[in-house]
Amino acid sequence: MIDRKTRTVRKTIEKQTIDADVCVVGAGAAGIMAALTSARLGRRTVLLEAMPTLGGQLVGTLLGTICGLYSNGPRPRRVTFGAVDEMLHYLDAAKALHARRALNSLVLQYDETICGRWAEEASSNSTVEVVLGAVLREVRMDGRQVTSLHVATRWGDLEVRCKGVVDASGDATVAWHAGLEVREATTPHWGTQMVTIENFDQRAVAEFDGFHVAQVLKEKRSQYGLAREDGFIFAFPGRNVATVNLTHMPNPTDPIGSSRAALEGRDQADRILTFLRTELPSMRDARIRAYGLPGIRQTRWFVSAHQLSIEEVRSGKRPEDAVARCSWPVEAHDTAEGVSWETFDGDDHMHYVPLRSMVHRDADNLIAAGRCIDGDTAALASVRVMGPCFAMGQAAAHALDIRGDRSLHDIDLPGFSARLKPNLEEFRKDPWTEDLREDEIVRERADAHV
Ligand SMILES: Cc1cc2nc3c(=O)[nH]c(=O)nc-3n(C[C@H](O)[C@H](O)[C@H](O)COP(=O)(O)OP(=O)(O)OC[C@H]3O[C@@H](n4cnc5c(N)ncnc54)[C@H](O)[C@@H]3O)c2cc1C
Repeated sequence: MIDRKTRTVRKTIEKQTIDADVCVVGAGAAGIMAALTSARLGRRTVLLEAMPTLGGQLVGTLLGTICGLYSNGPRPRRVTFGAVDEMLHYLDAAKALHARRALNSLVLQYDETICGRWAEEASSNSTVEVVLGAVLREVRMDGRQVTSLHVATRWGDLEVRCKGVVDASGDATVAWHAGLEVREATTPHWGTQMVTIENFDQRAVAEFDGFHVAQVLKEKRSQYGLAREDGFIFAFPGRNVATVNLTHMPNPTDPIGSSRAALEGRDQADRILTFLRTELPSMRDARIRAYGLPGIRQTRWFVSAHQLSIEEVRSGKRPEDAVARCSWPVEAHDTAEGVSWETFDGDDHMHYVPLRSMVHRDADNLIAAGRCIDGDTAALASVRVMGPCFAMGQAAAHALDIRGDRSLHDIDLPGFSARLKPNLEEFRKDPWTEDLREDEIVRERADAHV
């Protein structure tokens, strides 16, 4: 017989403590890249993530496409590199990557589960100390320096003492808990409950592919109790699944309101399924295979040394302290009914994120990366897509690495920019874009706009 010995215990350890050079809060597109880059620069790096998995919205929200990674024009080239290369090659090797034309550029459809495994393997193969299920709830500062972060996990509390912090939480949670000023919109920015569907007629994909479904939705949404009247469905070729982005739900920032909104989003997603099954013959037997985590576009963000403006985005002028670039349109989800787009049709258009929009105005060692950098709401509605988020994550790690004892407001700019040269100046063609057909380009030009 197995001897199952037991003992009785009581709570003893109050909290664990860990020292780090860099602490990254949030393991989404920006945080993953920040943590990997920082560790590869030889910095002791801790990555704190509230969810029990890595990947943030890149993995958990079922977004389906990576935008903002390519230039505009008939033959788009990739503009962000670094650890992104490893992620894309990993996805390509697993046949989990598909390039398609969109809005005068190119987006990459990808499988989130495989992308999540890449993030886990890449972290495990690095020196990054990952702490999952770690919700930040207190930040201590000494003057303009963040000195320690305090998180709760289901297994107890943890204190991270660190020299520099990347706020990649999407919600400026580090600045918020430090008591620093943050911005929030006074009018709603709508989030989306994404779903993956299966069991539809693959032969009829053209019936709903791209933006076509929006035309039907516009006429019939009120019949189905739906808020939004535009959006799209993207089928992933050969995988028998499609990504559905057709709902809008609010993104409140209080505990009860955000939970209610999450449930409201699920209800909207179910209504979308009913709509699709009823209105599109190819969808008669469709099912929801997975509901993503609530999709959050904009909540709170930094008050930085400089606020990126829509005029800067439109002008495409490269600032001296540029860290990331993209050509993605302004995609403003500012009404419950739909999205307003501002496209940059010029094939050479490219706009930039400056370092000054990432560094908090009132701290010397706190930098944002991803969707909570400082910009006006229109500028953020472009640069928050994942391409520039990847590049911002890398840049945040380099900024903390190069600063030494100086303030992030006063780093060696030429040295910093030299490190980021590929993400600011190079253009590369990828093998997975080779088979994009000319007729896809023509079709996309014809029906790109919602
Ligand atoms: C519905 C929807 C569809 C979109 N579609 C696309 C698309 O097709 N292509 C594209 O490129 N972009 C798309 N975007 C935009 C893009 O997804 C995001 O802007 C981008 O993923 C942001 O990355 P991030 O790393 O800044 O933040 P996130 O991915 O949000 O990651 C932030 C992480 O921080 C963690 N965190 C937050 N608070 C705490 C805390 N207190 N303690 C610890 N951890 C915390 C969160 O759990 C999360 O994992 C979409 C966005 C939405 C909402």
